[in-house]
Amino acid sequence: MSQVVHITLEPSGLDPVDGIPTQQPWIHPHLVQSNDPIKGRQFRATGLIPKGARLLVDHPYAIIPVVDDPVHSDHLLCSSPACNCPVPRNLDRGSCPNACIADVVWCSSTCRDADRPRHEFECTWLKRFSGPIRAKRGEYDFGMLWVIVRLLATRQSELRHAPTIEKIPSASRWKLGWDAINSLCGSSDTWSHDQVRSWTVLVKKYLQSSPVLPHGLSTARILQLICQEEANSFGLYPRETGIFPLPNPPIDRGEQFAAAVYPTAAIANHSCLPNVSLRCLSFSGSPAHPNQMIHKPNDGGRMVFTASRHILPGEECCISYFDLTRFVDVASRREHLRKSFRFVCQCERCISEEPSEENIEWNAMPLMDL
Ligand SMILES: [Zn+2]
Ligand SMILES: [Zn+2]
Ligand SMILES: [Zn+2]
Repeated sequence: MSQVVHITLEPSGLDPVDGIPTQQPWIHPHLVQSNDPIKGRQFRATGLIPKGARLLVDHPYAIIPVVDDPVHSDHLLCSSPACNCPVPRNLDRGSCPNACIADVVWCSSTCRDADRPRHEFECTWLKRFSGPIRAKRGEYDFGMLWVIVRLLATRQSELRHAPTIEKIPSASRWKLGWDAINSLCGSSDTWSHDQVRSWTVLVKKYLQSSPVLPHGLSTARILQLICQEEANSFGLYPRETGIFPLPNPPIDRGEQFAAAVYPTAAIANHSCLPNVSLRCLSFSGSPAHPNQMIHKPNDGGRMVFTASRHILPGEECCISYFDLTRFVDVASRREHLRKSFRFVCQCERCISEEPSEENIEWNAMPLMDL
């Protein structure tokens, strides 16, 4: 498999072969990645991007359904990375011949057969560990660990088809595949000692390289992968996230139905005054904006960024990491971001809405001669 990188200028439904993740992102020609000394990687516009334009269409490197009752849910996704389409319960779902877990389904026998090599990587692990993890640690930890296993499964598919993949530098400034996952921000320093200790226990118990999960990576690397996943994964919701100003009445983004890691979309930083909104194509199966794209079977799971206003050359392109209808005032937004994303938001909206504490402090200070 050649490692020549093609960044397509038109959204293309490249058909993967044998589950190889050949799906590559579609990136607006005026969108580049730059580096900020404080914020790190970021998206920036090099030319005008008009309101409503699509900025990015990215494919998940790993995606899992997040539903309470998989057997009766209409929101499961076809497990094949080439498809990931919604699989409602009235469809004749294909389930795993090895009966691993009810959350794993395919929309057709074609998808199931195409996905066999990838699913084999996770199947024994799911069958052995999903019950104990769900019972002892709960659904959140199970979902997190399953995303990690799916990241590793996709990496295995890459390695099968290009054993030297990790040694070849990306031919593009956009890193792709496992190379992009390696570049995600997030390290154990970001999280509390208690959190890291708890994840270390999980890695040692459930994610070490073994015949059940033959990934060959060290415990330290898997721990780092959890830190990266927790800092970069997206919850997927049926409606758009990050429309601002809020419509009246406000429309929330709905119930989460999946979680995923996107190699390129993860570059986006947060702003409470975002100029980019996001949505996933899986749920409705229709594009957010009537702009070039037509629905294809493998639209499922794609993350789509759309300019929510005109973006000027040089501007950073930011999304909102949370539902702006849920956390409205500056204190609740900052608290949510600090707890869930480990940073204090200094976006222009937060700064402009800061309470006048500085003034209070300033007034409390003895007056100084200037
Ligand atoms: Zn399918
Ligand atoms: Zn299975
Ligand atoms: Zn903010």
